[in-house]
Amino acid sequence: MISAVLPTYNRAPLAFSKGQGSWLEATDGRRYLDLGAGIAVNALGHCAPELVAVLQDQGAKLWHVSNIYTIPEQERLAALLCDQSFADTVFFTNSGTETAELAIKMARKFHYENGQPERTAFLAFEGAFHGRSTGAIALAGSEKMVKGYGPLIGGFSQLPWGDLAALKAAVSDQTCAVIIEPIQGEGGIRPAGQAFLRELRAICDATGTLLIFDEVQCGMGRTGKLFAHELAGVTPDIMMVAKGIGGGFPLGAVLASEKAAKGMIAGTHGSTYGGNPLACAIGAKVTEIVSDPAFLAEVVRKGALFRQGLESLVARHPQVFSGVQGEGLMLGLKCVKTPGDVVAAGYGAGVLTVAAADNVLRLLPALNIPDADIAEALNRLDAAATALAA
Ligand SMILES: *Cc1c(COP(=O)(O)O)cnc(C)c1O
Repeated sequence: MISAVLPTYNRAPLAFSKGQGSWLEATDGRRYLDLGAGIAVNALGHCAPELVAVLQDQGAKLWHVSNIYTIPEQERLAALLCDQSFADTVFFTNSGTETAELAIKMARKFHYENGQPERTAFLAFEGAFHGRSTGAIALAGSEKMVKGYGPLIGGFSQLPWGDLAALKAAVSDQTCAVIIEPIQGEGGIRPAGQAFLRELRAICDATGTLLIFDEVQCGMGRTGKLFAHELAGVTPDIMMVAKGIGGGFPLGAVLASEKAAKGMIAGTHGSTYGGNPLACAIGAKVTEIVSDPAFLAEVVRKGALFRQGLESLVARHPQVFSGVQGEGLMLGLKCVKTPGDVVAAGYGAGVLTVAAADNVLRLLPALNIPDADIAEALNRLDAAATALAA
């Protein structure tokens, strides 16, 4: 008999009842050090006191009003994000995949309004993940996510990861936009590389192609910059943000330049929940905290500390791990063994990690993880690797 919850997840036999900072307490009372943070969502850890205060304060005032009214909390968060980025304008969603949908619509509308309605083709990359809606799966094109769901929305193709020659050959006068995660998350913590992102920007500029960065996972301070593309010194025309921006409350945002957004006039897009006062009040607090240069400097320092410990973990367990990759607190351990087995061994050692493609174990802790918890995480990962090697 089918389970009451649609069985689309292969769930671990673990359930949690409480969380504080980087720690989760299971229903059986066992404590786990959380290096997954809801897959890069709980950017400030579980139940961060600053966020609980905003949730309770705004929760007692106003949760939801329709977007047919002016929403001051939404305007405040939009202004904060524009202030801190390349963007001139922001649309709020409740998830990452909804940001993909708007990015697709906005880019096509741009060329349509520009008198080039034939420019509808999107170029994405192999290993990409942009969400689970019908547009987002067609965009990323991964076999296991599109299988059985056809006919897919057309006009999307995928290029080999990091292949500049293939990119140059593929861009044509039909190309609408190129979409890329500056660091692939689900694809295995794979940085596109700063030189690649700069080349990509130059190709898009030369051909009038829009450039979309999906920073749903790598954005919001994860790399030690507010947005990962800042490391390369280039900006996109459209950017997708979600996950960390709500600190655990559902929130996403599409940021865009005035030029890229020029087709999006009244009536061209909408959302019932997107940008509600509660989500935006929390998002504004997260954004204020995470965009503070002192906070970001700490992410860089903690990332380096963690990475150093991971390098010695790899050296001690060459039969389990073969290397460390990533940026800031978006780290990946390349595994010799199946990442799923390492995740399971981690459960035994009281540490939570997340598997990704390309044989990578993802480590995406809270951005404010205390140094002592980093040390404890390394101990527990060491215990997991020892247990697995035995
Ligand atoms: C998680 C993720 C998404 C989809 O976000 P949802 O909130 O699950 O819809 C899109 N892009 C990237 C890079 C992601 O990591």
